[in-house]
Formats: sequence, C-alpha cells, structure tokens
Amino acid sequence: MPSLDSLPPAQDPALPAQAASAPSPADVAVAQDSRETRALRPDGPEARLEAAVDSLFTRLGRWAHAHPRRLAGGTVAVLAGFAVTAFGVAPLAPDAAQLPRRQVIEAYQPEALDAQLDALAAQPLVLQRHELTRSADSADAVMKRLGLVDAELAAFLRTDVLSRKLWRGRAGKLVEATADRNGHLQRLVARYPAEDDAQFSTHFSRLTLERDAQGHLQSRFETAPLGSTSRLASGRIRSSLFAATDEAGIPDAIASQMAEVFSTDIDFHRELRKGDTFSVVYESLTADGEPVTWNQGAGRVLAAHFINAGREHSAVLYTEPGGRSAYFDLDGRSKRRAFLASPLAFSRVTSGFAMRFHPIQQTWKAHLGVDYGAPTGTPVRAVGDGVIEVAGPQNGYGNVVQIRHGGDKLTVYAHLSRIDVKRGQRIAQGERIGAVGATGWATGPHLHFEFRVAGIHRDPLTIAKAAETLTLDAAARPRFAALAQGLQAQLKVADALDGHAGLID
Ligand SMILES: [Zn+2]
Repeated sequence: MPSLDSLPPAQDPALPAQAASAPSPADVAVAQDSRETRALRPDGPEARLEAAVDSLFTRLGRWAHAHPRRLAGGTVAVLAGFAVTAFGVAPLAPDAAQLPRRQVIEAYQPEALDAQLDALAAQPLVLQRHELTRSADSADAVMKRLGLVDAELAAFLRTDVLSRKLWRGRAGKLVEATADRNGHLQRLVARYPAEDDAQFSTHFSRLTLERDAQGHLQSRFETAPLGSTSRLASGRIRSSLFAATDEAGIPDAIASQMAEVFSTDIDFHRELRKGDTFSVVYESLTADGEPVTWNQGAGRVLAAHFINAGREHSAVLYTEPGGRSAYFDLDGRSKRRAFLASPLAFSRVTSGFAMRFHPIQQTWKAHLGVDYGAPTGTPVRAVGDGVIEVAGPQNGYGNVVQIRHGGDKLTVYAHLSRIDVKRGQRIAQGERIGAVGATGWATGPHLHFEFRVAGIHRDPLTIAKAAETLTLDAAARPRFAALAQGLQAQLKVADALDGHAGLID
C-alpha cells in the first residue's frame, strides 16, 4: 500500500494545506495581544461601545421596572449605536448591573426606540392576553386562560368549523386576545406554522375571530407571509459549537445552518478548536410583527464569519435577481465546492460524540480512513456528485457504499446500518445514501469514511478544501459588493460586542 509520504509534494495539494492548517503558537499569541490592546484603548470603538452599552443598560433598568412583564417575556430592545439595537435574552433582572452580558442584536432604527418606549408608557390599561395552546386543549380551557367570560363566544366556538383549528393539530399556537372589561371578546388572533409543510419557513397560519359591525362573531383563516428582522450574535468555542451558540442565545437551526454554510471549509466534527470564534447575522422570523414561537423563530443565516484554528472564513447569502440564493465568501467565491468536508451533517446529536478536538491527521493516517462517532441511524450523505459503484455487505466493511466521483476519485462509507441507494445510481452532493451503524468489524456505531484518489487513500478534508469554486460573474459583482459591505459592518458590530463581554468578565 503506497503511503502519502512517498508522494511527490508538488503533486499533492493535501500537504501544504495540512501544514498551514495548524497555526503556529506565535500567530495565536499575536492575535490575542492585538485583541487585548484594542480592548484597553480608552477611545477605541470597544470603549465607545461599552459606554453606549452601559447607558442603554441604565435605560433598560428603568424600563425593566416600568415594564417587568415585557422584559420577562423574552427579548428587549436597547440602543447600541450604528442604527443597531441590542437584544438581551434573559430572565427578569431588576438590577441593571445584572443584565445579560451576552447579546444578540437586531438591526433597528434608533429613533423608533424612543417612540416605542413612549407608546408603551402612554398605553392605557388594555385587557389583552397572550397564550399558547396546549395539547388536549378545549374551547373552554383556552377561553378560561385568556380570561374570557363570553357566552356568545362559547356558543360560536361550539358550531364554527374554522375555529376548531385553534385546538386541532399541533399545540403551541400563539393566541392573542383583546376583551372588554367584562371579559367579552373583541378580537382573537391565533398564529401558528403554515399548514403546508413546504411553506414552513416562508408563511404562517392566521386564524382571526372578531365582531362585525353588528357585533356578531366572525372567523377568518389566512396563510400569510412571514416577516423577518435581522439579528447579530457572536460567540467563542469553549467546549462545543452548540454550547457556544446556546450561550449566545442562537437558535439550533441557525447553528446547524452555520455549520452547513462552512461545510466545505471546516469539518465541524474534527476541526473545531477551543478558542475558535464566530459572528453571525441571521433572520429572526416574525408573524404580524410578533416573534414566532416555533423553531425558535429561526430564519436563514444572512452572513457569518468563523475563525477556525486562526483561519478566517466568511459567508454572505446572495440572492440573484432571478430569486435563487447561495452563499459566497467576501470575495464573491461560491461556498459550494465539489466535495463536502464531512459525510455527516453537523447537528446537536453528532456534535456530542467524540473527536471534536481530535488531532486532524492521526484519525485517518492510522487506518487510512476517518471514523466519525455517531448514533446508529444518523443520516450519511454523499460528499460529492457521482455514481454508486458498490452498495451492499463486504466482510470487514459491513454494509458499505462506494461512490465514483468522475475521474479517479472514489469515496467509501462503511459499517452502515442501512443502505438507501443502488449500484449504478447517480447521486448528488449532500444526498442521503444510508445511515450510521456498526455492521462488519466495528466495535460500536460509527461511520468509517475513506477518500481515494487513483487508489491512494487521502485525507478527505484536504481534498474538499482543494476543490475549485465558482465565482460570481462580473455583472453581479457591484450588487454583491454592496450587500457584502453592509453585512460585514454588522458582523463587526457582533465581534465588538464579544470584546465588550470580555472586558467586564
Ligand atoms: Zn475506521
């Protein structure tokens, strides 16, 4: 068996990349020094930001006393310069000094904040309630929780077919009701995910009950487009990606998307390092302006920046005039490459398994493949387009799939618990080919993955990273540049907030 070391380095794109992927201790030290220096400069951007954040915390404290219920409800808008407003996600903390140091921030017009605070302060007593429907809920139970005492409504709910949507199907529908002082319903709106799964991330269901001019109750059902606001967040890896995103209040769906966006740059199962940092701009979905309660309100990642082992990676979501969206780096190069860095999608489940901080080379050099620890049943995907060459049991490999990727490139996926493809079938990058198992010579469930080029085993990561990328055409450049510039400014704000959190630590 020829070994990698015997190959001439000039023909081996893997070698320089491997050498460069381990930053020298000196690089790391320099990076840390410059960070500290910046943070200590009294008139630097962090200091100004700190002053702004302190002042907004003071305001927040005052506002918290005036509107405790609003604060306890979840997100709070606070001013942080740049026409950007910080959002803290935390339980009620009456003392301003104890307010959250981790922030998620939302692009916002500063003058709108004062107007919003004034409007809140001037609001007369309104009998308005918000509730979530529960499983096995009934009309009576929902009415009771909403504080409604309304015989006419009770009768209406018994006969109106549309209203039954309120307690049919999945629980957790967000219900907002307005009543007069006697508990008579004026208006009720329930908002919940679109009934058509294909519209899950773009639309929501809206069921409205209200009185017409004659005072009679009417019901109406609509499917309406979701709105969104953009949020900024940043974090630092201490133990795992999900621990860091939890700490920053980032929804799971956004963490997974971020791993997916950088899936050709970083194998999150093997390459994540303690001290890696990231910042992200993402959509937070709204229904009629209210944050949605399902899927943690997660929309799409709009831009992200990830520093892995000292190497910077960036991504910007660009939507072509025709409507197709794709991620590009700040220089307009597509994030899509011929091969993914990992045959397993990164998720909270797979992230809990071994090899998170494993030395990169040991795992594959030891037995000419990479082992991914993961529970049986975890989906396995093709890392690139190709044709299935083998799909079935093969002694030590157990259930194994081999994919020919054009030319002399071949990938192998072994110990599968199930195989979802057939020999001769064409397969596209990212398509599911089977699931993780422990068939063949495996001591426990894991995926054994190999990348061979002309019959020689190679490190899959370096192959993925060396693959060519598409670049945006010249006509799209100016529009992309403007978009990227705006998003990059937001990412910098997110980074600056991370620095601030470090200062008061
Ligand atoms: Zn193995």
